[in-house]
Amino acid sequence: MTYPNTQLFINNSWQDAADGRTLAVHNPATGKEIGRVAHASRVDLDRALEAAQKGFETWRDMLPADRSKIMRKAAGLMRERAADIANVLTQEQGKPLVEAKGEALAAADIIEWFAEEGFRVYGRIVPSRSSLSMRQMVLKDPIGVVAAFTPWNVPINQVVRKVSAALAAGCSMLIKAPEETPAGPAALIQAFADAGIPAGVLGLVYGNPAEISSYLIAHPTIRKITFTGSTPVGKQLAAMAGQHMKRVTMELGGHAPVIVAEDADISLAVKATAGAKFRNAGQVCIAPTRFLVHESIRKEFEQALVKHANNLKVGDGLTDGTQMGPLANPRRLAAMAEFTRDAVAQGATVLSGGERIGDTGNFWQPTILTDVPIKAKVFNDEPFGPMAAIRSFNTLEEAILESNRLPYGLAGYAFTRSLKNADLLARRVEVGMLWVNMPAMPSAEMPFGGIKDSGYGSEGGPEALDAYLNARSISVMNV
Ligand code: NAD
Repeated sequence: MTYPNTQLFINNSWQDAADGRTLAVHNPATGKEIGRVAHASRVDLDRALEAAQKGFETWRDMLPADRSKIMRKAAGLMRERAADIANVLTQEQGKPLVEAKGEALAAADIIEWFAEEGFRVYGRIVPSRSSLSMRQMVLKDPIGVVAAFTPWNVPINQVVRKVSAALAAGCSMLIKAPEETPAGPAALIQAFADAGIPAGVLGLVYGNPAEISSYLIAHPTIRKITFTGSTPVGKQLAAMAGQHMKRVTMELGGHAPVIVAEDADISLAVKATAGAKFRNAGQVCIAPTRFLVHESIRKEFEQALVKHANNLKVGDGLTDGTQMGPLANPRRLAAMAEFTRDAVAQGATVLSGGERIGDTGNFWQPTILTDVPIKAKVFNDEPFGPMAAIRSFNTLEEAILESNRLPYGLAGYAFTRSLKNADLLARRVEVGMLWVNMPAMPSAEMPFGGIKDSGYGSEGGPEALDAYLNARSISVMNV
């Protein structure tokens, strides 16, 4: 299947940038240029902002039932087109086709859930403390035009979480999606366009991320910022939003601890975490990264994890049977080499992998490091790649302390057969999402987001809608 060039989507029309500028898109499995993406200039952004304001006024005034109908239609189109969308996504991002198709199908589930939740944007009536003639109401209104910035690792999912909640709340959204993986997000927006979304409600642009974000965040049309990406960039954007008094949702990096307690079901722990570790070649913000395994079961756990890693079929995501594709860009390859070099220099042992595969494309071996010193980079910076770093512990207290040592607080995993341990870990491990005795299973109906340096705000559950709403207080004296 051929890979499409991607244009800007402004006022419900696909168009080239006003100055005709484009950027190259590469296939990470081959390194070859496969297409181009339009690079927006200020002129394009101004047009997109004007359209988004008009789009907001239209969408805000539509019945939730009518908004829901369009959203459900878009979900249906994502399902119908999932196989074709997956092919495009794999070409630009590298993940195996089966994962890419799963991403397109999951998008449909998310849109549908929010299409229903849009019916439940309730206000409330509050009794007056001074007069029976006074009616006090809390109204929930859409916040306005939202600017969204999304990354390249799960290109459709990162956009759909934001878009679905914003649309259900009655907001319009101008999205700056990733230049490295533009066609997946464009396919999502196309589904909404074909479902009949009014002009301007969704806009899609690409270009220079820093230029676009600094322009949009400061612009008076924009009332809310939502960003998914690394913690350093998130802090910059949140600071900028603060200067302009804009509401913010920040979905940032993580460094997920995996606590495997003495009484854990080891094969379950390996199965659940190995799958999550190497999915999307580890380029997932909630991927397990710091493996903390009780000393008494460490060898057994390591052997099983190594066996899993060595059996993984790594290759082009378009090839049948591929279980792990290339890294999405050469920056991740350089990062994996540096994490490995640094860990080994500090005394870690490589149990499996640790090297680039071939010299074409961004392929890296599934890598397992053990006895990793606490100071090693891989135990402090988000690895964002197919790399498991293991340390052992003797008491659960030690494991909890290590889990909470870093400023990150996104996802965590724990394996134990004891209810008492599970309860202790639920209360004490400082993360926004904890999965006990299971792999990560995020869903539209559960809050999704971090605490501490992993950000604030949620992209799941009713909390995700609140992020796009103003609560206003209206009091009427019945005279
Ligand atoms: P990066 O930190 O420069 O970029 C991360 C994302 O933010 C990219 O999509 C980029 O386009 C965007 N971005 C960067 N500067 C921006 C700005 N000033 N305004 C708006 N958007 C901006 O580097 P990278 O090499 O692309 O990714 C490296 C790290 O980012 C990874 O190691 C990982 O920690 C993190 N990351 C996290 C997620 C996530 O899901 N939370 C996704 C992708 C990357």
